[in-house]
Amino acid sequence: MPQTFANETLIALGAQPEELFMLSLQKMEQQTLFIPDNDAEEIETDLVIVGGGPAGLSAGIYASRSGLKTVVLERNILGGQVALTPMVENYPGLTQIGGKKLVEILVSHALEYVHIFQGEEVLTVSPGRPLTITTNRRRFITRAMLLATGATHKHLGVPGESRLSGRGVSYCTTCDGPLFAGQKVVMVGGGDSAVTEALHLKNIGADVTVIHWTDKLDAQDVLAKQLKNSGIPILFNTVVKEISGEKSVESVTVLNTRTNETKKIETAGVFIAVGYLPSVDLADKIGVAKTPQGFIQQENYRTSVPGIYAAGDVVGGFNQIVTASGHGAEAALTIFRDLLNEPKA
Ligand SMILES: Cc1cc2nc3c(=O)[nH]c(=O)nc-3n(C[C@H](O)[C@H](O)[C@H](O)COP(=O)(O)OP(=O)(O)OC[C@H]3O[C@@H](n4cnc5c(N)ncnc54)[C@H](O)[C@@H]3O)c2cc1C
Repeated sequence: MPQTFANETLIALGAQPEELFMLSLQKMEQQTLFIPDNDAEEIETDLVIVGGGPAGLSAGIYASRSGLKTVVLERNILGGQVALTPMVENYPGLTQIGGKKLVEILVSHALEYVHIFQGEEVLTVSPGRPLTITTNRRRFITRAMLLATGATHKHLGVPGESRLSGRGVSYCTTCDGPLFAGQKVVMVGGGDSAVTEALHLKNIGADVTVIHWTDKLDAQDVLAKQLKNSGIPILFNTVVKEISGEKSVESVTVLNTRTNETKKIETAGVFIAVGYLPSVDLADKIGVAKTPQGFIQQENYRTSVPGIYAAGDVVGGFNQIVTASGHGAEAALTIFRDLLNEPKA
């Protein structure tokens, strides 16, 4: 297979389109994706999807294949949270795959059908049919809009947390829990998610201790009782001060805020469930209704504002790649049916 080196760096493997080769040369690294730029000041379309994570990309594939003229707008890096995931082991059909590789596969599949605009942030949305969407680059006139803006996990902000993220520090027991069967782990948090996830960890054979900052769990009574009955130890009035380990997590340093006593707990994993923040800045600007937990309220992916739909982690649920993709696909099909039943503007 032909290989191209520049300054002794491998920048291209095999034959590839000229645009991709030029991009590899500019960045001095191998590129697998080429997303053409577009200078148009105004684009008319059936559907604008905001967010290039699994929900947005899956929706793009389904909407375009249904015959809707569709674009995906991503303000940051394509792939959303998947791009930050070191290893994915629960996406059906792919036993084990790096997050970056999965993003490449998802994006190149989506590019077969849908125009993707990277670095494009929606600034304003003028209501009406059609909707007028202004981004930092241009205007879109569209019959419908799908918010697939995702979410982010709250962080503890303690030393060691970001360095050891993906190396023992995790925000997702469904994703990483099975790696810790038979090992000591701590779960930081005391709300519904933390308690459910601590029970899940115990169920898969991890030796879990809950660390909670006040003297009472914030979880629903029924969950708090289940935790108590499970025998999982709970350290109340305790905060994590530092996460330590050389190549992976080895211990956490905790402070008891009542006694002021500091101690080190040996652990192979630190699971953190101290809050999940849906990305609703745009939804708030538009004025769509939200749930009491702050997610976008929807019914069959339709929001409270006509023509505006929402899918993926931003509407809550199980927060997984496969569920976000499922949401995206279903939302696209709902939008297709709704648009079929309304006269074109
Ligand atoms: C560290 C980590 C590990 C994980 N591991 C796994 C795993 O192993 N298995 C699994 O199934 N799940 C895992 N998850 C969860 C999974 O990645 C998410 O559930 C999934 O990515 C949600 O998809 P989404 O498309 O709804 O949102 P996201 O992936 O959050 O994507 C939303 C996108 O929208 C963009 N966006 C937001 N606002 C705007 C705007 N105004 N304009 C333009 N773009 C915007 C964001 O930049 C982002 O790219 C993990 C998550 C994390 C953080």
